[in-house]
Amino acid sequence: MNIEFLLASGKHNCLTCESNGNCRLQDLAYFYKITELQFPEKDEKDIYPIEDQNPFIIRDFSRCILCGRCVQACNEVVVNRAISYGYRGAKSKIVTGGDKAYNDNDSECVFCGQCVEVCPVGALTEKKAKGLGRPWETQKIRTTCPYCGVGCQQWLHIKEGKIVKVTAVEDAQPNQGRLCVKGRFAYDFIYSEDRLKTPLIRQKDGKFREAPWDETLDLIVSKFKEIIKKDGPDAIAGVSCARSINEDSYQMQKLFRAVIGTNNIDHCART
Ligand code: SF4
Ligand code: SF4
Ligand code: SF4
Repeated sequence: MNIEFLLASGKHNCLTCESNGNCRLQDLAYFYKITELQFPEKDEKDIYPIEDQNPFIIRDFSRCILCGRCVQACNEVVVNRAISYGYRGAKSKIVTGGDKAYNDNDSECVFCGQCVEVCPVGALTEKKAKGLGRPWETQKIRTTCPYCGVGCQQWLHIKEGKIVKVTAVEDAQPNQGRLCVKGRFAYDFIYSEDRLKTPLIRQKDGKFREAPWDETLDLIVSKFKEIIKKDGPDAIAGVSCARSINEDSYQMQKLFRAVIGTNNIDHCART
């Protein structure tokens, strides 16, 4: 079958594929100068429908080459055991248990996106990144995930100053190419209008007013001193944030034990 015919018919159209420019199949077809397909394409009615009824991952079965990388990543790298090969021959498909959608109640999928990370073609793509930027338009910036103390290494794919998507850094400790659902998909919070950008001090009427850092820190110190003078240091307790890096949590306990003089210090991720 002629490649031009396929492009004209709308099948296998690399121009509209999210993985255009980041596709192993496209690279190899170009490298080997493939101009014709050896086998006929499936009829439209024989192609499994696209699955996109979850907020994170689009599964386009028409683009799947059944390489099995997603199955291996899910079962052996992140060990979620959510997907496997299903059916036989031309009907073959990557399936969850019972061939349900990823977000079905019975599905084992936790939306870590590891399958998307390893898919060499456009069969698995990030839903939130759709249409936001081609690989050659984005800049990759390495950073540390802000969500928990594990400190996973990630690439921020940036276009015009905005994050388009997040992927994991291969061969880097501690995650070695893995991310959880938060690290991979929950980056929109940085653009939230509700995000606090300055400290807020509660007024006597109960309303908050924005305040500069110096004023806020002075107020905290004076209140702490007042409480310690009246009831002693054990009247104060601190809870460190699970999203803080380990070094910040260490400094928090040091502040409470060595400066304030209490062992009332905990961490919200402790179980
Ligand atoms: S998102 Fe994670 S858990 Fe779900 S199928 Fe992919 S690798 Fe498995
Ligand atoms: S990694 Fe992509 S192309 Fe390979 S089997 Fe999984 S979905 Fe299909
Ligand atoms: S939130 Fe997830 S991706 Fe981020 S550091 Fe923790 S485990 Fe890693």
